Amino acid sequence: MSTHSSIPWFDDFMGVAYRYYDLRMNVVPLLTDRKQSASLWHDTIHWWVDPSIKIRFVEIGDKYWFILGSDSQKPDTNLSFFKVLHKSENYERFKKGHGGEAYLRLGVYAKKTLGDVKKSALCNCSHEARDHDEGDNDVCLYNSCDCKKFASFQVNLLKRKKTITDILYLEEKDVKDDPLAWNCLNKNKYSKSEQN
Ligand SMILES: [Zn+2]
Ligand SMILES: [Zn+2]
Repeated sequence: MSTHSSIPWFDDFMGVAYRYYDLRMNVVPLLTDRKQSASLWHDTIHWWVDPSIKIRFVEIGDKYWFILGSDSQKPDTNLSFFKVLHKSENYERFKKGHGGEAYLRLGVYAKKTLGDVKKSALCNCSHEARDHDEGDNDVCLYNSCDCKKFASFQVNLLKRKKTITDILYLEEKDVKDDPLAWNCLNKNKYSKSEQN
């Protein structure tokens, strides 16, 4: 258990997607760069020992801490992941639906502009690409909409996966009893706020 404390914390990713894929819920840390995702997998996650992979969710108000870590067959390049995120519909769906098991996959998050997509693609404002004016800086043509520029995104799930069977939801007051969550908050929350 004490080995957790020496593993570096990694938070240089955009967020986490929760998707049904392969008949199971998938937990998908999102990266913007394909090369970065490939080397993260190759150097770190590939070496994780599946039964030791842990996800901890620590809910604090309308946010939550996503914490992911594992024992590794290659401890020198091991990392633990964390990110403070807003609770979302997909997060709540995962919480209700995972049933104690999930696949871990990496995802590459690609931002799409008006030129990249079909006319029927949805903008983040919920209106289609064809409703955005290509001549006028991509503004949405709906009068009621204040979208100034078409923007959409696509998540590409990478094929390689690991199985997670150790998933826990914690309240902050219970974090002390969980070595991985405690190490994360101690290092990335409590010791930081003391410095300020
Ligand atoms: Zn729009
Ligand atoms: Zn719109």
